[in-house]
Amino acid sequence: MTFSTEKMRWRRCAPLALWFVAASAAAQEKHAAARPLDRRAEPMVEVAKVCPDIVIELRYATARNVTGQPIYPPNARALVRRSVAERLKKAQAELQAQKLGLKIWDAYRPAWVQQILWDAVRNPAFVGEPARGGSLHTYGAGVDVTLVDARGRELPMPTDFDDFTPAASRTYRGNDPVVAANLLTLQRAMMHAGFWVLRDEWWHFVSEDVKSFAPSNAPLTPDATPAPTPPQKMPDATSVRHL
Ligand SMILES: [Zn+2]
Repeated sequence: MTFSTEKMRWRRCAPLALWFVAASAAAQEKHAAARPLDRRAEPMVEVAKVCPDIVIELRYATARNVTGQPIYPPNARALVRRSVAERLKKAQAELQAQKLGLKIWDAYRPAWVQQILWDAVRNPAFVGEPARGGSLHTYGAGVDVTLVDARGRELPMPTDFDDFTPAASRTYRGNDPVVAANLLTLQRAMMHAGFWVLRDEWWHFVSEDVKSFAPSNAPLTPDATPAPTPPQKMPDATSVRHL
């Protein structure tokens, strides 16, 4: 084959080759967009450092939880994935514009704590069974929060934390207009920031991109050693729904 014949062939084929490259790139892009973002390696951050205005009272470090005794060490940190902390920051900003704010009751929860809670409650409506995937708290993508005023005082809500009764539903069943308004304010701010609401616990919210994360074995305190990595099995998604 002479050089000029080769050149002519390239001239004929070049548009087709370029079209093929462009089409492949577009197909790859489309496929990537359909896949959930992989955030398994996203670091955990302390809510207190990223959003210092958010009040933190980890109930599992106190006796004021369903087990009646502290489970977390007193110096336990409220941890979440970095992007989840950014969502909390956004919700906090929306609330602060109304002279309100968030209080965290629980954030990242190690798998060993989930086992203690399951043993105490054994009701899958309220506590994720470890054998069926446990809790999305262990992914660093779930938080338990309530509403506070500008001075950090809790506002009236449907129930207290860990009230595992129908009154804890995301839909308020009482007749106090103040409680109804407070619940709606909290839910709106969290949903605008990209959280989903849990059907049976008004205080529990999950980042809408939770499927891109994996369970974590981060230690609750800076000095503790990490626990064994929990198995990855996404809990039943049926319990996580939009408002
Ligand atoms: Zn929760």
